[in-house]
Amino acid sequence: MFSRQACPARDCPRCERLVAYRREAQARAPDWFNAPVPPFGAPDARLLIVGLAPGMHGANRTGRPFTGDYAGDLLYATLGEYGFATGTYRASPDDGLQLLDAAIVNAVRCVPPQNKPLPAEMAHCRPFLAAALGEMSNLRAIVALGRVAHESVVRAAGGRLAAFPFAHGAEFALDGAVALLDSYHCSRYNTNTRVLTPDMFRAVFARARAILDETPVKRR
Ligand code: SF4
Repeated sequence: MFSRQACPARDCPRCERLVAYRREAQARAPDWFNAPVPPFGAPDARLLIVGLAPGMHGANRTGRPFTGDYAGDLLYATLGEYGFATGTYRASPDDGLQLLDAAIVNAVRCVPPQNKPLPAEMAHCRPFLAAALGEMSNLRAIVALGRVAHESVVRAAGGRLAAFPFAHGAEFALDGAVALLDSYHCSRYNTNTRVLTPDMFRAVFARARAILDETPVKRR
């Protein structure tokens, strides 16, 4: 389990706009999760996947990253294909799906309007991402889904953005021991417009698999 430092409280007050948006969702759909979405997976995993933020009808509704909306269909199918997940993804946190040597977290934990967090909201939430990174003592590779997630990872790791320019398929040595792999986000828009094809997405996770397979399990 990730610690409380990596998991904001359900009533985290740091982002005024997102708190108001969360409360509106709570009033409209009280049965939904409607709170900061915690990481999925265990902190001893060697792979971390970082998304942007919960979708209103996806993770904000179900409480598990990438669960319940379109982006999860491609992500979980691809994770299963490369041995990072077992079980059947049924778009629900009680589907029994388990991650294998992998964890998933969003750079911003609360659902933002139009799926667009503001820079200040990214900054407010970054300590939780930094804490999650700090707790992953075996971390070997990070897949960043989209430019915003990429930049948040680089900043959380103490890097300079100029030294880590985002590009789909790019690979960086983040701190010497951890590879940062970039992908376009697996959103419906990106896949419908073929900015990101399933094969392009698979290639990123094939590389993550190869990195982990090259590296013996390390306990720091
Ligand atoms: S986005 Fe992060 S920092 Fe902002 S209110 Fe939600 S949990 Fe707190």
